[in-house]
Amino acid sequence: MARTLLDKVWEAHTVRTLPSGQTQLLIGLHLIHEVTTPQAFQMLKDLKLVVRMPERTFGTLDHIIPTTDQTRPYADPMAEEMAEHMIRNTRDFALPLFDMQSGRQGIVHVIGPELGLTQPGMTIACGDSHTATHGAVGAIAFGIGTSQVRDVLATQCLAMAKPKLRHVRVDGALARCVYATDVILGIIRRLGVNGGVGYAYEYGGPVIERMTMEERLTVCNMSIEGGARFGYVNPDQTTFDYLRGRPYAPKGEAFDRAVAWWKTVATDAGARFDDVASIDGSALEPVVTWGINPGMSVGVSERIPSPEAAPEHERRTYREALAHMGFVEGQPIKGARIDVAFVGSCTNGRLSDLRVAAEVARKGKVARHVRALIVPGSQQVARAAEAEGLHEVFQEAGFQWRKAGCSMCLGMNDDKLQGREMSASSSNRNFIGRQGSPTGRTLLMSPAMVAAAALAGSVSDVREIL
Ligand code: SF4
Repeated sequence: MARTLLDKVWEAHTVRTLPSGQTQLLIGLHLIHEVTTPQAFQMLKDLKLVVRMPERTFGTLDHIIPTTDQTRPYADPMAEEMAEHMIRNTRDFALPLFDMQSGRQGIVHVIGPELGLTQPGMTIACGDSHTATHGAVGAIAFGIGTSQVRDVLATQCLAMAKPKLRHVRVDGALARCVYATDVILGIIRRLGVNGGVGYAYEYGGPVIERMTMEERLTVCNMSIEGGARFGYVNPDQTTFDYLRGRPYAPKGEAFDRAVAWWKTVATDAGARFDDVASIDGSALEPVVTWGINPGMSVGVSERIPSPEAAPEHERRTYREALAHMGFVEGQPIKGARIDVAFVGSCTNGRLSDLRVAAEVARKGKVARHVRALIVPGSQQVARAAEAEGLHEVFQEAGFQWRKAGCSMCLGMNDDKLQGREMSASSSNRNFIGRQGSPTGRTLLMSPAMVAAAALAGSVSDVREIL
């Protein structure tokens, strides 16, 4: 019988079915960082437990890392304490840590794929909501809470219910200056922020198939913003070409054997899904969020909708969003003034994202009233960008070139919005308070659109610049 990747990977990692009906699932790769591990490690120490599979556990430092002065001790005592805990815990349990000296430090969802740790057919867990990113290579990857981090550390297993599967097709071809962020924001707008609850998303169709791996990572990254437990793309030649030669990918004949197996985990032709949804990629234009969740978005040429046009159960949230953002219904999103521009995060902090932002940056100077940050997703991304001279392009245009980390995606370091500042951001969440200020405002958009907004000082249409 034709089976989906979800069926095959789930079955291959099933230890047993629990009395609750959940599956005891073996986790092939456990990625850890400084924010969701201190309590988990403490519980292991209290119970005198060891890490069950240290060879399948890898750590990094990302959320709290300053992106300017990284001299230890860090200026923020909380950041210093969290970094110190992570360094000590990984040393105590003999786990690899991609620390600041490793040359491989970065956002957990950027370094996993770029190091080749993330591979097709795996189950991957991490104490961070955006773990679905890794699904881009054909893995089942999901975020977990601190107590589950403890469980995976101690047993390498999780108790989980298998979600239903929705095939999300993106048909047609993307127009010029329409990017992966526009695709996933378009999907979330269409299916809703809760549309994926109880589901995993298998992304497919010609637009997804033509995407580079970095674009697929962007799409899968925001699966959780559409309510899906995780999302993935079937592994194909793009996947294999991306993984070949990466430090933790199999080498030589082992790589060829791995590819032969990876091909078998892809969804079979004719496999049945619990649901199918399709969107027309050709109809998308650059997308900008106007509200307080990633489903509240419009095309850059559109106007902010009226609450009355929304389903009744969403009208209150629409009104709250308009009040928080200081927008009025019917207002064009284009022209909305911004104070801050942020290119970075696990959604859009990879080399291809910086390249396209630099292409825009070459066209002008950052508006005088805008604070513009470019934050590479990893040290490797930073080095590759510097080798191409992108940092100079950004600096000449008036952007700040920062060091790798999560930065203003959630403002756990010094990179925060101040007061009611309005941010054009290439990250993944526009919730109230997300970027470090309880009254701050976030407009999500692609890196190219962020760079365009930085130059104009307001939301603008990147198609008019490139
Ligand atoms: S960049 Fe943002 S979403 Fe990604 S891991 Fe860091 S804080 Fe989480």
